[in-house]
Amino acid sequence: MTAPPQQQPTRPAIVTVDDDPGVSRAVARDLRRRYGERYRIVRADSGADALDALREMKLRGELVAVILADYRMPQMSGIEFLEQAMDLYPTTRRVLLTAYADTGAAIDAINIVDLDHYLLKPWDPPEEKLYPVVDALLDAWQASDHRPVPETKVVGHRWSARSSEIREFLARNQVPYRWYLCDEPEGERLLAAAGADDRRLPLVITPDGETLIEPSDTELASHVGLATRPSADFYDLVVIGGGPAGLGAAVYGASEGLRTVLVERTATGGQAGQSSRIDNYLGFPDGVSGAQLTDRARRQALRFGAELITTREVVGVAPCGSARTVTFSDGTTLDAHTVILATGVSYRQLAAPGCEDLSGRGVFYGSALTEAANCAGRDVYIVGGANSAGQAALYLARQARSVTLVVRGKSLDESMSYYLTQQIAAIDNITVRTCTEVVSARGTEHLEELTLRDNVSGVTEIVPTKWLFVFIGAVPHTDWLEGVITRDAKGFVLAGPDLTVEGRPAGWTLDRPPYHLETNVPGVFVAGDARAESAKRVASAVGEGAMAVMLVHRYLERL
Ligand SMILES: Cc1cc2nc3c(=O)[nH]c(=O)nc-3n(C[C@H](O)[C@H](O)[C@H](O)COP(=O)(O)OP(=O)(O)OC[C@H]3O[C@@H](n4cnc5c(N)ncnc54)[C@H](O)[C@@H]3O)c2cc1C
Repeated sequence: MTAPPQQQPTRPAIVTVDDDPGVSRAVARDLRRRYGERYRIVRADSGADALDALREMKLRGELVAVILADYRMPQMSGIEFLEQAMDLYPTTRRVLLTAYADTGAAIDAINIVDLDHYLLKPWDPPEEKLYPVVDALLDAWQASDHRPVPETKVVGHRWSARSSEIREFLARNQVPYRWYLCDEPEGERLLAAAGADDRRLPLVITPDGETLIEPSDTELASHVGLATRPSADFYDLVVIGGGPAGLGAAVYGASEGLRTVLVERTATGGQAGQSSRIDNYLGFPDGVSGAQLTDRARRQALRFGAELITTREVVGVAPCGSARTVTFSDGTTLDAHTVILATGVSYRQLAAPGCEDLSGRGVFYGSALTEAANCAGRDVYIVGGANSAGQAALYLARQARSVTLVVRGKSLDESMSYYLTQQIAAIDNITVRTCTEVVSARGTEHLEELTLRDNVSGVTEIVPTKWLFVFIGAVPHTDWLEGVITRDAKGFVLAGPDLTVEGRPAGWTLDRPPYHLETNVPGVFVAGDARAESAKRVASAVGEGAMAVMLVHRYLERL
């Protein structure tokens, strides 16, 4: 069988299958002579081999314009083969080849596989007997839309939390993908091509045609071209966390000549990467989506030579002589002269019964972006009264039928910026329900309804909805620093002047006080939202990342 899929993958294929090698070669030769420049000619000697080739092409997102199959083949007849080929490529044009007129076969073929043409062998001269037939079929095939899908494909259940996480992961890492429901025809075809079924999903198919069933984030990252392992054992600077503070530190660190690696447990971008629109970041008078901003920062860091490692969680940091050792969740370690902690915060979960079970299946935290398209024409609920909830409401209101903002407080004015409350008030399909709480969520496969309680009257109401987005604040992601790095009562990392309120930090032996963003461990700095008393803004996180690098230089000069 000749199926060179890597040669020119963008050319659609013409597939021919015949068990007689001589005939098979002749068909392929005639086809290549006339169509070889525009089409890839794929030849197989049996139905089984041809099906293997088609499955592979399907997974790679390649197009097949025409299939010519011999009628009489020993293991699998041409009709049986075409029947299975149709499951993979339903719009491909189909031709049956036979050595003599066989009316029964022709009728079968037309009934079973909706045959386009029945061609008698030999077809000499091909200019008269073969090419006119194939020309007409190619014209017909081209008349409909057959855009190739060379990007990553995800096949999953509509309401699966893991499918949602995988799509979110790919989106946040700027990996283009296409989403297929497992019970839709193309999803079924991809499952068939991968030899998978709907019991173990999601299925991810990489642009190279590799199939991953229920992949972990790390597995997925390594197959879609994201770095998951540092290339060296020792760096000048390890940045932990890939939000604005970490990306800022990576850009400034690498651009100023430090051997810099950034380690991120999921995808770069942090909270900012999930913000639909950032209006207050310097230099973007018309606003910018968080994904765009952080993608630019990511590319900028890479351009300056920083290494960006994703899907690796750091679980420990400790001094080890003059080095600082960072430990990953798999037990491996990495050493550096200095560390910047930029681990930000994570979303507080809604405690109402039912929410935990339905998380990712109608109940979403923080990010509304990936799911926004699914909310078109729907009634959407948002919990929270701060800016992030307000931004999400504005974003979702563009597509949703209605957006209800559920707020515990008496008004939005105390918790949300004036410019947002003004915009919300001006949009007809946004309703604000103050003094209200979500007290439970219910649904079997997916969220179906919420119970809301008016905290003044005590009256409860059940509202049908499939979408709840929760923005109720965040807690610092710093538990893993316990016993090593000093934190305040809420877990935020203390640094510089905040550490020295009552004299030098315990165990501090240097003859200088800690630098401004330096923690109680010399050479370990903190930047962004994870720092106590930080501003919780993109600009300040980026600024602190840059400033921490300046202090790293100062630290290294005195090492
Ligand atoms: C929806 C939303 C909208 C917002 N809108 C605005 C706005 O319009 N304007 C504005 O100024 N601010 C806005 N903010 C706030 C702003 O996004 C944050 O202040 C900023 O992202 C903080 O950056 P950071 O790098 O400190 O932390 P984060 O952005 O929280 O990033 C921390 C990163 O560290 C990673 N991490 C955590 N622990 C570990 C670990 N142990 N190992 C490896 N990696 C780890 C996390 O996965 C995360 O990617 C918004 C926030 C949200 C949620």
